[in-house]
Amino acid sequence: MSEETAEKPTEKLVEEKPEEKPEEKAEEKVEKPEKVEKRKKGVFHHYKVEGEELKRLLPFCERCGPGYFMADHGDRYTCGHCGFTRYKPAEASG
Ligand SMILES: [Zn+2]
Repeated sequence: MSEETAEKPTEKLVEEKPEEKPEEKAEEKVEKPEKVEKRKKGVFHHYKVEGEELKRLLPFCERCGPGYFMADHGDRYTCGHCGFTRYKPAEASG
């Protein structure tokens, strides 16, 4: 008994497709947080509330008038608006 085994070459018709990797553009939508610049500058910064009294920490500029605070420079105040400098009165001892 002869078994004829016809060996048929199994042609594998496999179309080798080049793997086309679709460039997945991962668009990372980075939501830009809106810059909220908190301006802490305010008139209230120059005030100090003591109890019910409102204390003014800085003096007004004599030239510019009320509303223009003078910067504290240690021994003197300086107006950043006009440049007026006013020396602090000597601290009364006692
Ligand atoms: Zn001034």
